[in-house]
Amino acid sequence: MRLRRVWGRHKEKILVAGLLALVFVVMAPPKPIRDMVMREEEGVVIVDGVRKKDYNDYMYLKKEVLQTGLGEHGIGGSLSPAFDKEKEELYKVNGFNARLSDDIALNRSLSDIRHPKCKKKLYLVDLPNAAVVVPFHNEHWTTLLRTAFSAYNRSPKHLLKEIILVDDASTKDFLGKKLDDYLEEHLPIARVVRLPSRWGLIRARLEGAKHATADVLIFLDSHTECTTNWLPPLLEPIAVNYKTAVCPFIDVIDFETFEYRAQDEGRRGSFDWEFYYKRLPVLPEDEANMPEPFKSPVMAGGLFAISSKFFWEIGGYDPGLDIWGGEQYELSFKVWQCHGTMVDTPCSRIGHIYRKFAPFPNPRKDNFIARNYRRVAEVWMDEYKKYLYMRQPGWLQVDTGDISEQLAVRERNKCKPFKWFMENVAFDLAKHYPLIEPPDYCNGTIQSLANTNLCVDSQMKGQFDRLDSLGECGPNMQFQFQLTAFKDIRPLKSHNCFDVPDLKGEKAPVLLYGCHKGLGNQMWRYDMENQLIRFGGQETHCLDSSTSNKEVFVSMCDLNSQTQKWKWSFVNKDRLNNYKNLDPKP
Ligand code: UDP
Ligand code: MN
Repeated sequence: MRLRRVWGRHKEKILVAGLLALVFVVMAPPKPIRDMVMREEEGVVIVDGVRKKDYNDYMYLKKEVLQTGLGEHGIGGSLSPAFDKEKEELYKVNGFNARLSDDIALNRSLSDIRHPKCKKKLYLVDLPNAAVVVPFHNEHWTTLLRTAFSAYNRSPKHLLKEIILVDDASTKDFLGKKLDDYLEEHLPIARVVRLPSRWGLIRARLEGAKHATADVLIFLDSHTECTTNWLPPLLEPIAVNYKTAVCPFIDVIDFETFEYRAQDEGRRGSFDWEFYYKRLPVLPEDEANMPEPFKSPVMAGGLFAISSKFFWEIGGYDPGLDIWGGEQYELSFKVWQCHGTMVDTPCSRIGHIYRKFAPFPNPRKDNFIARNYRRVAEVWMDEYKKYLYMRQPGWLQVDTGDISEQLAVRERNKCKPFKWFMENVAFDLAKHYPLIEPPDYCNGTIQSLANTNLCVDSQMKGQFDRLDSLGECGPNMQFQFQLTAFKDIRPLKSHNCFDVPDLKGEKAPVLLYGCHKGLGNQMWRYDMENQLIRFGGQETHCLDSSTSNKEVFVSMCDLNSQTQKWKWSFVNKDRLNNYKNLDPKP
């Protein structure tokens, strides 16, 4: 009734409005397919035909925001001096401040330092479930438990099937029955598998993997902390292709304060030709695509996810690898050469305590590391193994033991040659770590011209890791240096380089710090004409010294200052004259 009356009175107006609406609908641009998100069930959306969802645990995040106390939100803490003695004792056996750890909650909160886009990222609804496998040898109680609790608390419950702690013959009492009972009561998803004797971390991981029943194996070190929503980004690339190994970003838990901080925002894993683990820059196209997973040639080793199916197809780890060492290369080469892929995933971040020092005595009498390296080289590296042996001829004296089973794995999986890996995966490795090292610019002793009896001395006398002294020149190793093709200065054959992190002040200290072969605070040039050792690309500062108190430092270059003048025992004039044209370019 009412409607008919309205129609009668406003016929024209309604027709015009209807027409306008029709025109609007016809002219409105069609929505792009990508935005056509269909609500299906709570939190599930369809993106490009694939079901994805938001895995954030908002209840847990809300609870964490309110947590207060020592170490909360990943902020560094300290103990009152009253605990100095206890602290010292626990430092000795752990290599980190375990006493401080005991005062920090097992479920401490951490701040979210991920790429901002990670917060809103959706992941596949259908993800495989995971087993967390943690080998441990004499781990400290609270750091071990924090590893397990952080993994559990921050996981979607249906995705984490089990936590397997593998006790590699620990001798600390509390790691026995007390640990079993504690887990049964407080964290029943976790259980301990015990090894009869010290098998080393590689066989411990293998044993844990054998006990696991989940689809995906996630290996963690026993002193780590998983941060918010760490699990789905590790699982998704495996759900898409089961032959993918996935590594999280590894952050730093400070060994002294337990502060949680980033190590960097991503690098590709690599190695040099003495098998030191190294890192390569992220490729520009990957940088532009952050925080999507990007390919990495070599894993750091301790923390990664791999499907159980692929892990066992490629023979797991070589069980002939003893204790530790080389396993990250073995598995990485295998993954790539045997038709898999390896990626780092920036949205999964896990903290790791890098120890201040290794607290354990050497568990073996033989050179197990050299044997491990050789096994990896002999099985996987083909003609490239010679570049290792060239630098470490001693490795050739070490017996590999039986490698027939490993060669059979390679054969069975029809794995590709190492040359393919070098050319397609680690294609820029040889640029940063040449197969054959170009000659040094200078080497030998660095003699002071202010007092020719004195030479730069690498033996540390004062502060930890600071190059601080001149000594009476002599033939000993401590007086031998090289200004390498990478434009760094280091004690002969060392992997620590002269580093000046801070130029402020009149006498900037020179540290001996891990060589990163980059430009900047580890870059030096020998100015032959003026006999100066110039620092950094700018070259405004020079290596200087005080002959009276035998100090070495960096200060503003001064052509008239004798304390800045140095003589190297060997100088490659041709190369120095061409310095600015040679890589790496200043
Ligand atoms: N580990 C082990 N057996 C060993 C040596 C190490 O189970 O013989 C464990 C250790 O507890 C840790 C992991 O393997 O969970 C890696 O060792 P570590 O943390 O000492 O190596 P780093 O991180 O210092 O390189
Ligand atoms: Mn570790």
